[in-house]
Amino acid sequence: EASWEAFYRVVLLGDPGVGKTSLASLFAGKQEKDLHEQLEEGVYERTLTVDGEDTTLLVVDTWEAEKLDKSWSRESCLQQGCAYIIVYSIADRGSFESASELRIQLRRTHQADHVPIILVGNKADLARCREVSVEEGRACAVVFDCKFIETSAALQHNVAELFEGVVRQLRLRRQDC
Ligand code: GDP
Repeated sequence: EASWEAFYRVVLLGDPGVGKTSLASLFAGKQEKDLHEQLEEGVYERTLTVDGEDTTLLVVDTWEAEKLDKSWSRESCLQQGCAYIIVYSIADRGSFESASELRIQLRRTHQADHVPIILVGNKADLARCREVSVEEGRACAVVFDCKFIETSAALQHNVAELFEGVVRQLRLRRQDC
């Protein structure tokens, strides 16, 4: 049986309403409720096979105030990730600005280690309400030295690709955490 140390903790960050919980529950697999184990509120475990190799991710969706508890303060969210997914909504400019602030906060907490960060522009289906262009998202990711992907949790578009990308980033850096 895998120990806790064998898991990669991946922490979801971002403004309320951008789609963190929607992405986390797609990761957990809605149809497989009995198969995946929900370890604690807002924490989801799943083993993904990527490029023929298994990796277990522990996705932590406790950034919102109502899900924070003694074991997952905001501080521990910022400190305890092996990788981070910073989510904004392409239909909400304010959430894009918050994403930049979160990146800066992460840089402060993870000065030495090069923890993988993926910037996610979610709600890509809301094309007519778009406030952040793909180019802006991509440029922001370059400046902040992270990966970038646009997703739609509503259409289940690029969600599997997002988590596979996280696995590949973790393998590239192979850091202990
Ligand atoms: P959180 O507060 O960041 O966890 O956001 P939620 O996952 O609770 O989502 C907030 C709202 O946005 C919900 O009503 C979701 O159904 C909706 N939502 C999430 N992802 C998408 C998406 O990709 N497209 C659209 N149109 N709505 C979404």
